[in-house]
Amino acid sequence: MGIIQIFTTLFFILLILKSIFEFYLNKRNENYVLSHINNVPEDFKNNISLEEHQKAAKYTSVKSKFSRLTMGIGIVALLVWLPLGLLDNLDFWARSLLETEISRGLFVFGMFFLINLILGLPQKLYSTFVIEEKFGFNKMTPKLFFGDMIKQLVLSAIIGIPFLYVLLKIITSLGDLWWVYAWAFMVGFQFLMILIYPTFIAPLFNKFSPLSDVELKSTIEKLLKKTGFESNGLFVMDASKRSSHGNAYFTGFGKSKRIVFFDTILKSLTPPQVEAVLAHELGHFKHKHIYKMLAMSVLSSLVGFFIIGYCYKSIDFFNAHFISQKSSYMALLLFTLVSPLYTFFLTPIFSIMSRKHEYEADAFAAKHSNANDLITALVNLYKENASTLTPDPLFSKVYHSHPPALERIKFLKSL
Ligand SMILES: [Zn+2]
Repeated sequence: MGIIQIFTTLFFILLILKSIFEFYLNKRNENYVLSHINNVPEDFKNNISLEEHQKAAKYTSVKSKFSRLTMGIGIVALLVWLPLGLLDNLDFWARSLLETEISRGLFVFGMFFLINLILGLPQKLYSTFVIEEKFGFNKMTPKLFFGDMIKQLVLSAIIGIPFLYVLLKIITSLGDLWWVYAWAFMVGFQFLMILIYPTFIAPLFNKFSPLSDVELKSTIEKLLKKTGFESNGLFVMDASKRSSHGNAYFTGFGKSKRIVFFDTILKSLTPPQVEAVLAHELGHFKHKHIYKMLAMSVLSSLVGFFIIGYCYKSIDFFNAHFISQKSSYMALLLFTLVSPLYTFFLTPIFSIMSRKHEYEADAFAAKHSNANDLITALVNLYKENASTLTPDPLFSKVYHSHPPALERIKFLKSL
């Protein structure tokens, strides 16, 4: 067996393994949740009714079924793109139409993006207007839905085309070490996006108004002072126009750092609970989790570009993945499509790391605000978001970025 056959075979073997693994875990989780549908866990009996618990189980079950369907569609799409030759044909078409490698690259990427967008549209519509609607979470109108889509499309074009142009230019004109420059460019671009996102992009989709609740504001400012945290303002985002799911987050860094509360979270939590949730978020910040994650992503993209740089040299890489001719843009696209097959086994490692961060942030919150307020806030959020309290333990270990409700609350009680 030559190198091409080896990698082609590996492609199919990994695709089968990954699919079995994902379907199995998904189904396992659904079964586990449904088998616990009639019993609210002891610790939650006072705060969560049987009806609410059952709603969460049904919501998980419906979402699991839907996610198996979208996984199936994803597998078919990958088979159509690569083994069945859609991507290779797209490349032939680009070569017959356009002269330069960069214009072909922009064309192929553009078509790939548009086809995926159209294929993904029914899934997004179903998830928003059927599933989320059924469980009372959806607040979007079709007008808002399509308005968002058009804005995202225009934004992707304005940002994506120049970005891709420069990236392809780097690959085609900077010699053997292009991947180092490409990586540096990518990292610079990432940082720029983090800097401009809160002030230029997010406001295109949501209104951000300064937090006006006087009592809450003074509580929060006390907490910020106590923990020595500086930010560029407290904002409330009108998340309720799209969904009733609640959240709070930080964006930006350095001077552009700001704290954002979804209006939905302010409706469902009391001021001490909001304070506890914010203290948890501050914990992430104080423990430098954001920077650690950023460093991880910078390093992994270096590894990624090194691999693309290496593969790009050999036509075998393209041929093994059903592409007949070598090009810069195909190297990037192939890497995007094929690399998840090689990296899915890393998912649990990232989840473990993230859960460790959550415990650290919880400990910080317990120290600087009140563990009991955080517990009641979490219970409230689980209830409001219809998140299951009883996920399958194995599923949770692999995928969940947050510890399961029971363990998290047990930990908070121990503090
Ligand atoms: Zn957290």
